[in-house]
Amino acid sequence: MKSPAAMTRRWFGAWVGAAGWLHAFQAPVEFVCPMDKDVRSKTPGKCPRCGMPLEAGVREPVEYQLRVQIEPRSVPVGRAIEIRLELLDRSTRRRASKYELIHEKPFHLFIVSADLEFFIHDHPVPTGDGRFRYRTTLPKPGVYRILADCYPAGATPQLLPAFVTAGGYTKSIGESIASPAADLAPKRGENLQVSLRMDPPAPSPGRKTMLFFTAGPREGLERYLGAWGHLLAMSNDLIDSIHEHPVYGEPGIEIQFNIFFPRPATYRVWVQFQRKGVVNTVAFTIPVRELS
Ligand SMILES: [Zn+2]
Ligand SMILES: [Zn+2]
Repeated sequence: MKSPAAMTRRWFGAWVGAAGWLHAFQAPVEFVCPMDKDVRSKTPGKCPRCGMPLEAGVREPVEYQLRVQIEPRSVPVGRAIEIRLELLDRSTRRRASKYELIHEKPFHLFIVSADLEFFIHDHPVPTGDGRFRYRTTLPKPGVYRILADCYPAGATPQLLPAFVTAGGYTKSIGESIASPAADLAPKRGENLQVSLRMDPPAPSPGRKTMLFFTAGPREGLERYLGAWGHLLAMSNDLIDSIHEHPVYGEPGIEIQFNIFFPRPATYRVWVQFQRKGVVNTVAFTIPVRELS
């Protein structure tokens, strides 16, 4: 027996479906990248930014919860731990079992320490039952932010957070907030020098900020996981995170990312560029303040 709410949803769905069907005859279908919602096309194809197949129309979001379990449970530092990850549908509590590939991988994992000094972007291994596992070592006691970036099949792309406390650390998250100073100076990666220019030069919340990176030498610059660059921004209180890719398919002299910083905070921004098979990860620290 279906609940009245479910029936209403069904009728509403049918109605929206019919409206969409009618709409299809009135206006051309828009094909949208599930990752980059601003990438739209009149014809099917692949997103020039991330390579995902474009979808006809925008899907209704499905909410998931990220469940993280760590072995050993005490989460020691300085020795191997295994992180187990799964996504649970918030309404059915069912585990997501199939994943679309995004940037060549079914699951992207980020781990950031509360002092914003430690950063991992890596790819857990599927265990075959819809779960993933990742082995790593955490460097010191404290709070760590875990982010899962993935796309359960038939749903919508997810960027889901969790917290982990390591090494018997007892202070709260609130007591662990870092207040790093602005740092916009050029950075040296493994085999790349990376500098940053911003427009506007002083970003404010809710407004578009363009980040232009110059990565040199340019010779030997390659795509990394299907994109010319990957960017993760994290607010210093670990609340807001943004994973972005360059706005243009091919990089010019500068590699441009567009970001909307949601709130006033200091953001650490890690960018990753690949040159000659080597992934370079460098970080900048960007204060975002209300316009006065
Ligand atoms: Zn990744
Ligand atoms: Zn990325």
